Amino acid sequence: MTKLTEGLSQRYQAVVSKLSEAVKSAGRRPGSVELLPVSKTFGIDALEEAVKFGMRSFGENYVQEACTKIDYFKKEHPELQLTWHFIGKLQSNKTKAVAERFDWVQTVDRLKIAQRLNDQRPEGMAPLNVLIEVHISGEETKSGADPQDLEMLATEIEKLPNLRLRGLMAIPELSLSKEEKIKPLLEMKNLFDGLRSKGFDIDTLSMGMSQDMVEAVEAGTTMVRVGTAIFGHRDYGEKDREK
Ligand SMILES: *Cc1c(COP(=O)(O)O)cnc(C)c1O
Repeated sequence: MTKLTEGLSQRYQAVVSKLSEAVKSAGRRPGSVELLPVSKTFGIDALEEAVKFGMRSFGENYVQEACTKIDYFKKEHPELQLTWHFIGKLQSNKTKAVAERFDWVQTVDRLKIAQRLNDQRPEGMAPLNVLIEVHISGEETKSGADPQDLEMLATEIEKLPNLRLRGLMAIPELSLSKEEKIKPLLEMKNLFDGLRSKGFDIDTLSMGMSQDMVEAVEAGTTMVRVGTAIFGHRDYGEKDREK
């Protein structure tokens, strides 16, 4: 067993346990929160190990890097039927490669991107699952839809036949205190419940990462995206250029 293998297995098990503990102590149903391992910057060797430990879905941020991995696994291990989530910033000139390969896109924040993904989704593939990324208050980044545009965006996305709107996603600013951490997460839960009560058929609220996983579970997340706590620290190297 390589060093990578050993560490990976232990860290993954630790995250799985921590998540199920958090679900339990929040009084939520076991299995109600999906764990999405985030493998960005890690190579095919790490993914080969990850699938040995039972991981079957992965979050990726960089189109080119992700395409290489997806194409490799479709060719070498089609039997695994991995599920790929695009969770990075999506520029409109890169939507085609994403529409042709991914199962989910979590970062749709404007109609133009949704339309392009819809038009570029190949015939015969299942509809692409999409989440609307929301720009939550206090966040410094510019990405994400404004909460007041959500209903309009959701309405328009539901009309696109090759997309399936599944819910909302957010990347809240990380703060140190628990109280500060939980506020934007609860805000997201409210927005999610609001859309559901208006009749939108959505089931996924994607929030919570290595640093705020437990708070996200308390606030009602249905999917946590965990990178560092599973794969270890990332070495971006050349990656900065692709951003
Ligand atoms: C990188 C990334 C993650 C994982 O973050 P960690 O802190 O390493 O767990 C989750 N979500 C998004 C959108 C990311 O870009």
